[in-house]
Amino acid sequence: MNASKNAPKTCIIGAGISGLARAWQLQRSGQDCTVLEQSALAGGAVRSHREGDTLAEEGPNSILLNSHEIEAFLNSVPGLQESIVEACPAANKRFIVRNGKPHAVPMGPLSAITTPLWSFVAKLRVLKEPFVRPAPSDGEESVAEFVRRRLGDELYRYAINPLVGGIYAGDPEKLSLPHAFPNLHALDQNHGGLIRGAIAKVWAARANKIPKPRKRIISFKDGMAELPEKLAAALSDDLHTAVSIDSIRQSDTQWTVSWTSPCGMVTERLFDQLIVTAPAHRLPHLPFDSILKQHLGSLGAIDYPPVSVLSLGFKRTNVAHPIDGFGVLVPECEGRKVLGVLFPSSVFSKRAPQDEVLLTAFVGGERQPECATIDTQTLIATVLPELEQLLGVTGQPTFVHHKHWDKAIPQYKLGYSKHLAKIKWIEQRYSGLHLAGNYCTGISLTNCLEAALDC
Ligand SMILES: Cc1cc2nc3c(=O)[nH]c(=O)nc-3n(C[C@H](O)[C@H](O)[C@H](O)COP(=O)(O)OP(=O)(O)OC[C@H]3O[C@@H](n4cnc5c(N)ncnc54)[C@H](O)[C@@H]3O)c2cc1C
Repeated sequence: MNASKNAPKTCIIGAGISGLARAWQLQRSGQDCTVLEQSALAGGAVRSHREGDTLAEEGPNSILLNSHEIEAFLNSVPGLQESIVEACPAANKRFIVRNGKPHAVPMGPLSAITTPLWSFVAKLRVLKEPFVRPAPSDGEESVAEFVRRRLGDELYRYAINPLVGGIYAGDPEKLSLPHAFPNLHALDQNHGGLIRGAIAKVWAARANKIPKPRKRIISFKDGMAELPEKLAAALSDDLHTAVSIDSIRQSDTQWTVSWTSPCGMVTERLFDQLIVTAPAHRLPHLPFDSILKQHLGSLGAIDYPPVSVLSLGFKRTNVAHPIDGFGVLVPECEGRKVLGVLFPSSVFSKRAPQDEVLLTAFVGGERQPECATIDTQTLIATVLPELEQLLGVTGQPTFVHHKHWDKAIPQYKLGYSKHLAKIKWIEQRYSGLHLAGNYCTGISLTNCLEAALDC
């Protein structure tokens, strides 16, 4: 898409999903946009690995499509719509481990009453939830405090603790409710609780006749990496990979960026707008002037715990569990190394050879960061016995792929508002500079895409 001659010129640093989606959105609206990425490959955390008939994800396994806007955006990327694959209906089924056994998470009121996942007392405690008073609006609760207060300790340990491990690889005692789960916080503050809030939402939707967008879990035929690959192809020459940014200088309201390409060529250009989508921990390393570097320094302190993603293939006959769902999450109180295991070959077709299955185990995070850094062989030796106990896996894997993320996912911890205030202050102080990415507006791909569409 050609930009008009007088269109504002934007430079985007970082070609993860936040940077690529913003660039494509700006180009679609006729703006001139240059993307600079330090890695040889665009995509950031979104990476797929194919070996023969096995397709493993190193980062995100899927996207939750929940709005027409995101769907329209994805369909606008040349060649992407034909590649979308939808999760099998089984993906709605999730398991949580209790006493060493995976139990299906209830999906309706009847199964919630009969499930062995929670005790009778814990279920009765949920009935008290609508009568629990909201937290004072001037305080900040941790996710764990909020859930214990509203739903009791058992629901915390056997529902929310494993969920937070699965989403953030995080510690619910340290995560801030309003920042990590703003929707739950809003239900508490605006409707006086989760059950009241859920009922109010249903009534509001009915009264306003708001058509509810169908929630779909999707991926792509060649894996999640197709998303950044197709965006990169659409951006064509405006995306520069494997570059080293040499200097970034502000002159009045404009920004001069100088970078060196892999061939050694140095380019310097003037931009009206600079959008930085590099992770927070990389910000202090960008070649800004020393004062701005100092301001960015506090954002560099945002925690990103390490995570190891271990994809293992097995003969179907070597897995006793039906693995008929999205995956299984492991509560901290179960005392295991594995945070959770996804069942990619049950969710999407063509992820493993016929007669084989693919399992993806996540290890480390805030819970046990030291476990994320162990070498592949030790990791396999750690994970295999747990897979045997939890899912009845026997024999040796037919496929192994290990991805270690030294800094995986930003943690929206208690006190996070000071980081958001700093971001706002920097953007106001430095005209034309914008900070974006998963540490600003939410960690899911859906959050990143929504923020990009808003830019
Ligand atoms: C293991 C794992 C599993 C996940 N699973 C899911 C999931 O199932 N569903 C979901 O919705 N989300 C998931 N997420 C979260 C989601 O993938 C990320 O939040 C999202 O991809 C972040 O995108 P981003 O563009 O903001 O940041 P990144 O992907 O971190 O991209 C930032 C980019 O900036 C580049 N960069 C850094 N420094 C410089 C520099 N100096 N110059 C130029 N470029 C630079 C980096 O190389 C990178 O390409 C997962 C994340 C991880 C790590």
